[in-house]
Amino acid sequence: MEIFNEISPLGAFLNDMRGQGKSIGLVLTMGALHEGHISLLEASKKENSLTICTIYVNPTQFNNPADLEKYPRTLEEDKLKLEKAGCDVLFCPSNLEMYPNTSLLTFDFGTLDKVMEGCFRPGHFSGVALVVSKFFNIITPTRAYFGQKDWQQLAVIKTLVNELKFGLTLRSVPTVREADGLAKSSRNQRLDAHARARAPIFYNTLCFAVETLKKGQSLTDVKAAVTDNFNQQGDDIRLEYFELVDSVNLTPLTDVEGENPPILCIAGYIGEIRLIDNMFLDLSTN
Ligand code: AMP
Repeated sequence: MEIFNEISPLGAFLNDMRGQGKSIGLVLTMGALHEGHISLLEASKKENSLTICTIYVNPTQFNNPADLEKYPRTLEEDKLKLEKAGCDVLFCPSNLEMYPNTSLLTFDFGTLDKVMEGCFRPGHFSGVALVVSKFFNIITPTRAYFGQKDWQQLAVIKTLVNELKFGLTLRSVPTVREADGLAKSSRNQRLDAHARARAPIFYNTLCFAVETLKKGQSLTDVKAAVTDNFNQQGDDIRLEYFELVDSVNLTPLTDVEGENPPILCIAGYIGEIRLIDNMFLDLSTN
């Protein structure tokens, strides 16, 4: 695996690869890699001649300084995992390389970033769009791979690619889960044994909601039951939002009928660890 920390030599290397007619698949990550990340890499390997993975904890997408500081960083282990999975190129730049100057640019995605994560993490998607745009310009991949676990991020990046004509194909990859349903996440590493045992509450809530909505219960009743359940968990488990939204324009729905397939999205805290998850109402959608 070739490893680059700087843009200029990476650019020269990729130009050479493109000159040889190679297609380039890109997987963007913040490291602390798990099987979810590896599934993106495998999807890329299947349809590109070269796969590049980035590891960069992007400061501009963190609205909470403690979350940024405590974000798990496991670069040496990550390198081994990437080698084993057959990654061709790793790009792990410094903050100075990515942000030589404080950026003045901000992004506004209209209704897409005013709901859910956008309400609880102000500025988050602007920071995501900024760093993703930088990576797209630096790497100019043929295809880029994103996880469905971050559904709202996917919707924002689709808009970014379409509106700014990045000229690449976006692919989305289904969420990889632990045996008990917990969506794999780098932040799971920070859960202690007690918190880890309780963390499937988010997945279980989604399963419960899908089941009861399908049986014909109203969304209002399901939301009330979910809120009640979280309220009974004690102070260390907190629900931030639980919404049924249109999976394309992310408009909150009051009913299971929508223009596009509806998706349930959930976020909350176990102790100080923030987790998110989602599930289509029609499980065959993804
Ligand atoms: P992150 O390192 O958390 O920024 O995630 C990097 C990429 O991996 C994003 O496209 C995520 O959506 C994706 N990802 C994270 N967790 C999972 C998972 N459990 N299953 C599939 N993709 C994931």
